[in-house]
Amino acid sequence: MTITSSNPADPADVVLAVEEPGAEAVRSAVLRARAAQRGWVAAGAGARSAALGRIADAIDAHAGELAALIVREVGKPLAEARGEVARTSAIWRYYAQAPYAAAGEVHETAGGPGLLLTRRRPHGVAGLIAPWNFPLAIPSWKAAPALATGNTVVLKPAPEATACALRLAELASSAGLPEDVFTVVPGGAEEGSALVGTADVVSFTGSTGVGRAVVRAATERGVPVQAELGGLNAALVLPDADIALAAEHIAAAVAGYAGQKCTATSRVIAVGAAHGPLREALVKALASVDDAVCGPVIGAAARDRLVDAVGSAVEAGATLLVGGGVPERAGWYVEPTLLADVPAEHPLAREEFFGPVAVLHAVADLDAAIELANDTPHSLATSVHTRSLDVALAAADRLDAGMIRVNAPSSGVDFHLPFGGTKGASHGEREQGRAALDFYTVGRTVSVLPGGSL
Ligand code: NAD
Repeated sequence: MTITSSNPADPADVVLAVEEPGAEAVRSAVLRARAAQRGWVAAGAGARSAALGRIADAIDAHAGELAALIVREVGKPLAEARGEVARTSAIWRYYAQAPYAAAGEVHETAGGPGLLLTRRRPHGVAGLIAPWNFPLAIPSWKAAPALATGNTVVLKPAPEATACALRLAELASSAGLPEDVFTVVPGGAEEGSALVGTADVVSFTGSTGVGRAVVRAATERGVPVQAELGGLNAALVLPDADIALAAEHIAAAVAGYAGQKCTATSRVIAVGAAHGPLREALVKALASVDDAVCGPVIGAAARDRLVDAVGSAVEAGATLLVGGGVPERAGWYVEPTLLADVPAEHPLAREEFFGPVAVLHAVADLDAAIELANDTPHSLATSVHTRSLDVALAAADRLDAGMIRVNAPSSGVDFHLPFGGTKGASHGEREQGRAALDFYTVGRTVSVLPGGSL
């Protein structure tokens, strides 16, 4: 089979077509990576730090080209693509410092002379499985901490984002990363599951169903695994909020990059008197979103699923407030869409659709808003819009989400802080920040006792 990635804004434009290499190619990449790992650790903290810094430099030096490739391969609007490239080099630069971080602690023995040390050591080969929506940043926020801590890496990107991943590997190699330290193997489910079956530590980002299967397979092998999955993210708007600003933030979180961020808002919860003004401001804001902000969805199947879901919600009694249509032109475009009165059990109110579509709910008070926001197994990011510090703090305490953003869009991530959801949105250790360094290492306790002691 051939893996083809094509331009979502112009599907006739084929970005890349490569043969699927098959499971055996993955296994042999893991074997080569395992052989290279000893040398990568032995190279020392200074060499690893310098190599990661040079990768950051190479990304900066090719920033324009990389942003254009992201736009072409996954349809990300240019401003966001530029932002992703800048963030990607920042990720490599941040983790370039990690090899120098303390790798453990020193303790007294319980009795007598000696030293007790804890050390963090790499697992071996990190098997990384990435989605297509952040084609440089997600592979990088997995690979950089894995490499910094002395693992070697085999990355299997999403088929839709193969060209971006291969370019990243080329830049890493041109920056002097030794052979087999960072390998990209293109592929789909077969190659992904071969990687889960052979790597020494597994990090997955993608949809909930696939992620659960990956977690099961890795756990069965006794291999550490983390999985970041889909979100069904809410925005809570209180009556005291700056409604115009909240509507702008929410429109950006619903329609930015066509809603294809795991932190995108798909449920808007208006509290009390916020409902009328918010509804009006949000309809206006979504109606004025253009291609420079929204862009196409990733493919025909994604577009059809969205259009079908909106149609079936309307048939079930929902009110279409704005959007719902498909512009007549090439590319997989869907209009930014807002619906009200969606039946509580309709899939649009319960499942992640990964498109520029949101559902508006009206509730009486903060308690009801929090209850509704928490009524999902996919709790990744929630935004709260209020001028009251008390309300913001209460909501931050009671909202069951991995990330709570006050007076900001639900979408938006700081690369140096832990990232992940709660309940079914996440499994295992957090990604990013210092948490990632823990995930890619295992603790060892070393007892150093004076010669002759028993
Ligand atoms: P996906 O689950 O279809 O694919 C993700 C990766 O898994 C791809 O590389 C795919 O080839 C691979 N894969 C498919 N079947 C596999 C199998 N059986 N074994 C191993 N690997 C397999 O997801 P997608 O469409 O690429 O990405 C969109 C999804 O990713 C959305 O649900 C989104 O919410 C989620 N996402 C989550 C986060 C997060 O951090 N929480 C970030 C970005 C995207």
